[in-house]
Amino acid sequence: MPKLDTFNAVVLGAGGVGKSALTVRWGRNEFLEQYNPTIEEEYRCDAEIDHERCLLNILDTPGTEQFTGLNEGHIKFGQGFILVFSLIDESSLRALDLIRHQIYQTKGMDVPIVIVGTKMDLAHEREVSRAAVQDLVQRWGHPVYETSAKRNWHVSDPFEDLVRQMRKRYSRT
Ligand code: GDP
Ligand code: MG
Repeated sequence: MPKLDTFNAVVLGAGGVGKSALTVRWGRNEFLEQYNPTIEEEYRCDAEIDHERCLLNILDTPGTEQFTGLNEGHIKFGQGFILVFSLIDESSLRALDLIRHQIYQTKGMDVPIVIVGTKMDLAHEREVSRAAVQDLVQRWGHPVYETSAKRNWHVSDPFEDLVRQMRKRYSRT
């Protein structure tokens, strides 16, 4: 039996954008209604993506400390990163700029990254337009997914994309 691929993914972003809700929706298929800003938890998920199994360790970070040294340890742990912003909070998108640069500094430019815009179901409160999202794809060169953990819309897409990127980047062959 070939050894199972194991990857460490880290979920980063401002507080309250929906990092935990996204992670729990994907890992356990539940919606986290309660906001607990302090949660830091590692989830171990066994996933089959493109007919191949892998183990994903997903580190859900508290995400209120993006300006301290705290992210440093998280970033070292990660082989791939899910950068989360809220579609109903434009400032949370700007917060990703700094986090992205912290990751590049530690991991280099060819690091697997996906960007996730959350709370797509709250369409009437939306602050980040589709055009702004497309602009981001162009400028940053990372895939961006619009999701809703509440409605379970497009939640697996970013995780699958990240696993594909990590397989390419860290393949042993
Ligand atoms: P975190 O600090 O980034 O981990 O944010 P949480 O995952 O704890 O989410 C913060 C709040 O937003 C919680 O009350 C969630 O229930 C809510 N939330 C998260 N994702 C969604 C979503 O897709 N739609 C809606 N309507 N609310 C969401
Ligand atoms: Mg959280």
